[in-house]
This record gives sequence, C-alpha cells and structure tokens, in this order.
Amino acid sequence: MRLFYHGTILTMDEQKRIMEDGVLVEHLGKIVALGDASLIEQYPQAEKVNLQGKILMPGLINAHVHLAQALLRGQADDMPLEPWLLKRIWPFQAAHDTDSFLKSARLAMLDMMLSGTTTFVESMVIHYGLEPLAEEVERLGLRGKLAKVVMHPMAGSILPVSLQENFKDSLAEARASKNKRGQDSLVEIWLGPRWTGMFNEQLMEDVKEAMEMEGFKATMHFAESEEDVEEIKKKSGLTPMAFLKKHHILENKMLLIHGTHLPVEDDRYWQDAQATLVHCPVSAMKGAMGYADVPRMQAQGANVSLGTDAGACNNTHDLFREMRVASLWHKHEHQDTSIMPAGASLEMATMGGARSLYMQDIIGSLEVGKDADMITIEPNRVHLQPMFNLASALVYSADGHDVRDVYVRGRQLVKNGVSLVLDQDKVIYEAKEAMQKTANKAGMDIIR
Ligand SMILES: [Zn+2]
Repeated sequence: MRLFYHGTILTMDEQKRIMEDGVLVEHLGKIVALGDASLIEQYPQAEKVNLQGKILMPGLINAHVHLAQALLRGQADDMPLEPWLLKRIWPFQAAHDTDSFLKSARLAMLDMMLSGTTTFVESMVIHYGLEPLAEEVERLGLRGKLAKVVMHPMAGSILPVSLQENFKDSLAEARASKNKRGQDSLVEIWLGPRWTGMFNEQLMEDVKEAMEMEGFKATMHFAESEEDVEEIKKKSGLTPMAFLKKHHILENKMLLIHGTHLPVEDDRYWQDAQATLVHCPVSAMKGAMGYADVPRMQAQGANVSLGTDAGACNNTHDLFREMRVASLWHKHEHQDTSIMPAGASLEMATMGGARSLYMQDIIGSLEVGKDADMITIEPNRVHLQPMFNLASALVYSADGHDVRDVYVRGRQLVKNGVSLVLDQDKVIYEAKEAMQKTANKAGMDIIR
C-alpha cells in the first residue's frame, strides 16, 4: 500500500475536481482512497511517496498508434497519401520481421511511456507477430489493445500481396492470442479490419460476427478520404455511417479511426452508437487528409478520443502535443476561439479515451475503485509558470518532457523521467540498426 501526498491531484472525474495538497492511496494497483492530508493519519501503515508539489493526473490514452512505423520517423514526410503508402510505408512494413518489428514497437512504447501515455491501441498487427508483441507489452507493463489485422484478399487491390492475409487464419491467430491472456492481463486482443481501398461487405459481416460471438472489440480506418466515401456510396448506395449501421457495426464496440470525411448527414448516427471515434489531428493535418469536425460530432453524441497515429506521419507519440493541436485546429476551422477549450482536449485524452476503449469504469480518471494508471508532472518549470489554470498549462504550454513518473495499475514504469523497464540507449541503438536493415531489405533509400 502506498500513499501519495503533497501534490496537486487532477482527478478528471465527473466534477473535474482538483485537490491542492491532495492524497491518493493505492493498494494492489487500485485507488483505495482519495482526499486531503487527513488521510495520512488514517493509513499509518502505507509507504509514503512525497510528490514534492508535482501534479498527479490520470495516465493518457493514445487510441491510435502504428508501432511498426516508429522506425520510419522522418522517412515519409511531406508526401501525398498514395505514394506515401506505396513507396514508403507498405514496402517497409512488408520487410519487417518479428525482431525489427519488436525494436520498432519498443521505440514507440518508450516514447509513449516517457510522455505520459499509459494505455494505447495498436490498430493493425500484420504478419510479424501478434503473440511476441503481446508478451512484450505484458513484460513492459503498459496497457495495450492490440488489433490483429483481418481482411479478405482482393484481386486488383493496391495493397501488396505480401501484406494480404486470409481472414480465417488471421482470426485464428487473434483468437489464440486472446485465449492466452490471463484474467488480469494488461493486454487485450482486438481485430483491425483493413478496409481503406478494399471495400468488402463480407468483411463487415465477418467482423460483426467475431465481435458478437467471440467478444472482440475492433478498430478500423474509416472515411478518411473522399474516395473512401465515394466508393461506399457507389457500391452500397449509402453514406458511410448508414453503411455501418446496415451491417450492425455501430451497435458493437468499434473504434473508428479519423472519420475526416464523414458527411454532416451522418451525425445523427452517433447518438445511439456504441461505436466511437479516434481523432488524430496531427496526422490529419500533416497528411492533408481533411478536417474531422469533432466538435460538431461531439455535439451530436459522438464519443471521441485522441490518437497520435504513427511515427511515420506525426512524427511523435506525445499526446500533450496532440492535445495542443486539437484545441488549436478546431478554433481555427470554426473561426471561434471558444471551440475545443483546453479542458475538452484534456477530456479526450483521458476519459474520452477510456470511453472509446470501453474502459470508463477502470481508467481515465483518478477515482476510488479505479486502477492506479497515473502520471506526475513537474510544474516548476519556466515554460509552465505562472501556473494557476491547470488545464491551460497542460494543453497549451506543457509537452511530454514535463512528465516525471508513470504508473500503470500501480506499477512504476517511469521514475524521474527515466524508464525503469526499457534501457533507452539500447532501444535507440537497436531502432537505428533495425531501420537500416529493414530499409535495405525493402530496397528503400534512406532520406537524409
Ligand atoms: Zn492509422
């Protein structure tokens, strides 16, 4: 049992309570008490952790990441989508083996944990090994939702044959990995239907069945380009959300990615949807993908989380920077400074993320009964002071480097800005080496 004291606790609970000189008591990974300094007397047996004036807040939730692309940081900038995929991303991913993939994943996971992310969704694990990744995430102690890619191979698709998979085999791999996880595993196996540019109604039916019969959650890129929307319209006669409704996807636990081209008339489907949306403002802006009008969709009942997307298209995994861009972009697009205030971006990265992952009773806020997924922030820094408005400081002034400590279910992963579970020098060295090896194998030049 540990008692954290002498810090400012930002709970992100329903009332958005902030406790100056607050106390949080953690036992066996759960928050068992939360209050003022009087708690210190009530738990004399607890190990005391002096926060020394730091901010204690919920760990951030990154709802969209591609771990395999972390090695491609700086290697696919300033390019339109199709050559970006065909010349850089896909050849590189096809050349990955389990070893290079895990080195890429470690780099991304270290980047995430050092910048305060405690939970992430990997949206598409391809042939290079779901189970080795699941074991690595469990070993490190991050909370990971790992989506195994599922698809129906399509003749004439622009996706290279080497990245195509058979639905039954992929589902079997996901099922095997799902069944291996213990009751208390921090890893959950999801499905990641590969959809973009591969319109296929049977895939939607098969995914729905796996979700309903086997309890899988799923995540997929959706309505991220004008062509996606046109293709759905051409082949089904429906708008994107109407199409999902027809296939009963919206009433299942489906995390839709981007939605940058969802039409206004689709807003009405959010109200009753179990499906949620992950918003990735940086990758959408950098990739000139179009504007996802998140405030408009939220007003119609959409639950929205935040994601950084990949090293190849962001190029960081720092959710603090993502929150900042989210708040700025929506104000700019709406020409309205009141849109997406700091607190709203903070909500997307915490409770919005928890709801998007269907974990709102377990993570996303610091409340009694929830898991102790939490981070500390050092407020006593020039770029953050004077700090009277916490949400403003965290969203508009802070970045991931201000994170000092990271705990997932009570286990400390980062202490004073240093990872306790990954050797930073080794991770960087191996990432560089794996990058060169994989690029060589793919016949790709390295951009300098
Ligand atoms: Zn993506």
